[in-house]
Amino acid sequence: FADRDGYIWLDGEMLPWREARVHCLTHTLHYGMGVFEGLRAYTTEHGPAIFRLEEHTRRLFNSAKILGMEIAHSPEAINQACIDAVRRNGLSSAYIRPMSFYGSEGMGLHADGLRTHTMVAAWHWGAYLGDESRERGIRVQTSSFTRHHVNIAMCRAKANGNYMNSMLAVQEATRAGCDEALLLDVDGFVCEGSGENFFMVRDGVLHTPALTSALEGITRDTVMRLAAEEGIEVRERRITRDEVYIADEAFFTGTAAEVTPIRELDGRTIGPGHRGPITERLQSRYFNLVEGRDPSHTDWLTFV
Ligand code: PMP
Repeated sequence: FADRDGYIWLDGEMLPWREARVHCLTHTLHYGMGVFEGLRAYTTEHGPAIFRLEEHTRRLFNSAKILGMEIAHSPEAINQACIDAVRRNGLSSAYIRPMSFYGSEGMGLHADGLRTHTMVAAWHWGAYLGDESRERGIRVQTSSFTRHHVNIAMCRAKANGNYMNSMLAVQEATRAGCDEALLLDVDGFVCEGSGENFFMVRDGVLHTPALTSALEGITRDTVMRLAAEEGIEVRERRITRDEVYIADEAFFTGTAAEVTPIRELDGRTIGPGHRGPITERLQSRYFNLVEGRDPSHTDWLTFV
């Protein structure tokens, strides 16, 4: 992945992909204190467009604020870096990865005298959970790993170190032959996927966990707004895993995962065992939106 053509934005400069290197004493590599984002740009009639760029950049800065890190660039500069990363790599659609991390200016937990570096890379990335997943749905297992406690990890921050928990959960789920994990919160209620927010449908109503320890997903927000426009009621509340077993439909949302139906949880088939009608409606509205076919939310698109 590191040995390829292309360009990566690092600390204000566009570097050839192979030269965008850091030292092995990079502080964030040792302790995981860093913040990042994941965005997508989609092919539209008017060229590539980044979806909800401003909101992603705002979350990056909020994550940094939570961790007490200072990003050395303005939000406008990061927005421009995302645009430039897509443009300079000649991408018609892309996954975009900004990250702010501590450098190799020192070691130790006090983080004295460390510089905060920021990078933005962009590359082509297809359906995160596989091409078939959008229609067929995925098989999910409840994780034995609990989602972070709000006062252990900072759940509002999209922080590098938080993802060790996600990776343990994914590793366990895939070893068991599933595609993704569903993590419960410290009280045993449904929280989120390893990199996705969770929704289920019962009797025509959409239910999603409140954002206690789940990430404040931008796709989650998008889908909730689309549901409101479609006249679908949305309730944010505590959800138990057995409620999911008997749900009519369930799906994950995320920038990478987009809107991915869940067809099975813990060996129980959910609803008809494939994408349900409400999931399909919201998923199709989502793709219309991100691919620029929905004139009602063009303010969410930044054309590259
Ligand atoms: N939860 C977690 C843990 C995530 O990593 C992500 C992906 N950023 C999400 C939810 C979904 O967030 P978004 O829709 O903003 O990509």
